[in-house]
This record gives sequence, structure tokens and C-alpha cells, in this order.
Amino acid sequence: MIFNSIPITRLAASLAAAMDVPAPEQAEEPLPLIETLVKDHCRSDKAEKMLLFCPDAIGQWLVQKYTMDFAPVLRYTQLQIPFVSAFPPVTPVNFASIFTGAQPNVHEIRRYEKKLVTIDTLFDAFARAGKKTALVAIKDSSMGTIFAGRNIDYYIEPDDPNDIDGAATTLKALELLEKRKPDYDVIVVYTMKYDDSIHATHPESAKSLHAMKSHNLQFEMLARKTAEVWAGYDTFLGYITDHGIHADHHSNDGILKDRDGRGNHYADIPEDMNVTHFFGIQPAEK
Ligand SMILES: [Zn+2]
Repeated sequence: MIFNSIPITRLAASLAAAMDVPAPEQAEEPLPLIETLVKDHCRSDKAEKMLLFCPDAIGQWLVQKYTMDFAPVLRYTQLQIPFVSAFPPVTPVNFASIFTGAQPNVHEIRRYEKKLVTIDTLFDAFARAGKKTALVAIKDSSMGTIFAGRNIDYYIEPDDPNDIDGAATTLKALELLEKRKPDYDVIVVYTMKYDDSIHATHPESAKSLHAMKSHNLQFEMLARKTAEVWAGYDTFLGYITDHGIHADHHSNDGILKDRDGRGNHYADIPEDMNVTHFFGIQPAEK
């Protein structure tokens, strides 16, 4: 297994460019691949609405090994890009890198800590451009914490242990889309049941795979809803995860780590560092 070559830090400027908005101040260069997707499919030459679905810890090897379970995502997207996460591959570090476009030494979340991101983010960039943005996340999660205080609306759902699908944030986003009051331009939806489950069991337990499949179906439900309520707009869909996962990995010195067999992620190995993101455009109806 080898590492992917495109850093996750190139996403923020790409997403800003898709909406024809200036990038966050310290973001790395946008990807021409995403620009081409937008130009090829949008009637207006740019995305007018954006929905970003952010499931936690859906590593690239899951896409390789359980490809058919990603059919609901593949069906609504036209482009996949392999990214390499920022190190260490943990949630606050990587969502900070995804939404600032900067490496950990720049955004200053360098380890697992749910610290406020103080540099410019995509949320700030959208707000400056007059895009109305909603962030739907889970209470006390990284996504519900590190981007506080921006000029956006927050919908923070309780962390319900009985919600084995991690559906709460999707249900809230579906409600926002249905109501359209306010009529958001950008909706970011975070869910984390797959990640919860890999730590409690392992990456390929029945419970974990159930959560992974549920997240993919949640993306499909959101895609179908945007196609309905945002039919008049060029709509950008993103399926964006933060890092991968491993169980019982062998380090280069041959020593078996994590002997408890549970899932984890922290290592500089492709299993933890490689992710695949999916992007789609739903063109405005004529
Ligand atoms: Zn985790």
C-alpha cells in the first residue's frame, strides 16, 4: 500500500472556487480537477448551492474493499479524488486542515485536541461572500467545537448512543432543506457513528459496517433531497471524510500494535492516511 499524493489541504480553496468565492486566507492551491467538474456540469459556470456530507473515518481501503456499499455515493457523484490526510490522522487536525486549507503547523491543531481554529476558514470565506451557511454536527464532537463563533448557523444534535446509524444530523439537514427557512446556500453535515463503532469494536465488525453503509445511504438521502428542493440551482455535492483507520497494524520494525484488535487511527500508514472524496454536480433544471 502506498500513500496518496494529493494533500487534503487542497480542498478548501477548491470548494471556495466551486462557489466562486475567494479562498480562506491561508489555503493551499485549489485542484484543477474540481474546477473542471464545476465548469463541465454547471449551467451557470459555478455552483450556486453546496451540500457537504462529512462522515468520520471512512478510510480509502473501505472504498476499495466494500465498493458496492458505496453505490449510493457513486450514483450521485461524478468525480472521486484520492487524498492524503494531514498527520496525525485524527479528527480535529484533519477537519481543521480540510476547512482552512492549511497544514497543522499553520492552523495549530497539531494533535487530538478540540481547540478553536483561529485562522481563516471556509466558513468565514462563505460568510464574507454572503453565502448563508449551516453546520450540522454532534454535541462535543470536533466538528461541533473547533469552528465555533463563525458567522454561520449551528445545529448541534445530542450524541445519542441509541442512534446506531448516526442519522440525527442527516434528519436535521433534511428538515432544513425541506423548510428552506432560511434558505441556506451551503449546508455541512457531520456524522460519526462509523468512527465511534471502530473504537468500540473494530473497522470491519458488523456494527461498524452497518454504520458505514448507513452513512452512505444518508448521503444518498441528502442528494435526493437537494435534487428536489434545489432543482433550480447548480448544486455541488461533496462526500468528505477526515482520515482512515486500522486494526492490528504491523509497524516497519515488525512489531504488532494495538493487540486488543480494536480499530484506531493515529499512525503514518496508508490505512490511516489515505481517503477518497466524492464530488458531484446536480445541474440546475432548465
Ligand atoms: Zn476516531
